[in-house]
Formats: sequence, C-alpha cells, structure tokens
Amino acid sequence: MSKVYKSIDELTANAQLACRTFLAECEKCGLKVRITETYRSQKRQNELYAQGRTTPGEKVTWTLNSRHTGRRAWDICQTIKGREYDNSNGFFDKCGAVAKKLGIIWGGTWKTPDRPHFEVSKSWTLPNGYKGEEHDMEEMKKLQEKVAILEKRVTELEEETAVYNYIDENMPGWMKEITVWARDNGVITGTGNGWGMTKTKAETLVMIKNAHKKLN
Ligand SMILES: [Zn+2]
Repeated sequence: MSKVYKSIDELTANAQLACRTFLAECEKCGLKVRITETYRSQKRQNELYAQGRTTPGEKVTWTLNSRHTGRRAWDICQTIKGREYDNSNGFFDKCGAVAKKLGIIWGGTWKTPDRPHFEVSKSWTLPNGYKGEEHDMEEMKKLQEKVAILEKRVTELEEETAVYNYIDENMPGWMKEITVWARDNGVITGTGNGWGMTKTKAETLVMIKNAHKKLN
C-alpha cells in the first residue's frame, strides 16, 4: 500500500485555510477531531478503488477521481479510542454542521454518505463576515480604545457644561476665587437663581480680572 499523508501542509493553500479554520471551529464546539488523511496519490486512490473489486476487502471508495488527489480534501475521525467512527453521539453530524457554516463540503450529505470526508472547491474562500479568534481580539482592542476616548470626552464635556449656582464646596477652588472677585467687583450680579457659573464663564472672568489688573 502507498503512503498515507496526514499533514495539512500537503493541501493547497486555500484548502489548508479551510481545514485549519474547520479544526479551530470544531475545537470551539468541543469536538475532538483527528485528521486521518489529506493528500492522496493517484496510485493510492487506484489501490483503494481496487479494494473490494479486484483485490480482497470491503469497498472503501466509489471513485478514481477524488479531491484528495487534488489536495483539496481531508478525512477525520474522533479521538475516542475504539469509537473513532462511531456517530451515535452525533460527532460527524456536528462536524458537518461546522463545515456547512464555513462553506466546506461534507461527504455526509452525499447519496452514498462518506461521513469522515470533507473537501473544498478550487475557489473556496472564508465566508464573508467570518471572524476567527484573532480578528475578534483585534476588534475588541480597537473597540476598547474607542470607548476610552469617548469616556474621556464625556468627562471633559461634563466639566465644560457643569453649572455651579452657589459658592460652596461643590464649586472648584479656582472658580470660587474668580466668582467671589467678579461678585465683589460688580462684574456679575447673579440671576436670583444663583451664579450660573460654567467653566467657560469662569475662564472669561479670569481674563477680565487680568485685564483689570493691568488697567489699575
Ligand atoms: Zn475522503
């Protein structure tokens, strides 16, 4: 029998991405997957095809043209010893559902089901909007930075728009000082509802006070 290739590296570039993404998604779902075969030489495909036909054993394949030989298919089993191909726990169906989500073809949907088999077309790409773990983290980080900037801006706006009607402990010290000066010098007279001091108003009063100093 010819060599059995199990490395994902044997697949085409987009099939490698498909296979690795598939494995990552299966892991997220708690599915313990083992790759049993990836690339298959035509010689091995021919040997497998002969099995049950011209050589002893059960038939294991229905075709001489497999996507394994085109490096675009992989076979799996579950890692439970003695139950590698047991589907009573729905293992293969769950893997099939993961594949469907990623646009990967599952052999379990065929007329003659081949549950351990998965493959992609030459033109396969990650589905639009698919976000793997790394993308999510990157997005989260950006979002956190954005929130921090917005929170800082809200604090600034609160400081800028806060209204202080009374000269008391709530009013910042520098503002208290200028309000007292402005009141004592008749620059502000109040509205009857308090001083209505804001940061901008207080800063303007400071400029007036500085001008007064020079004028006197
Ligand atoms: Zn296969």
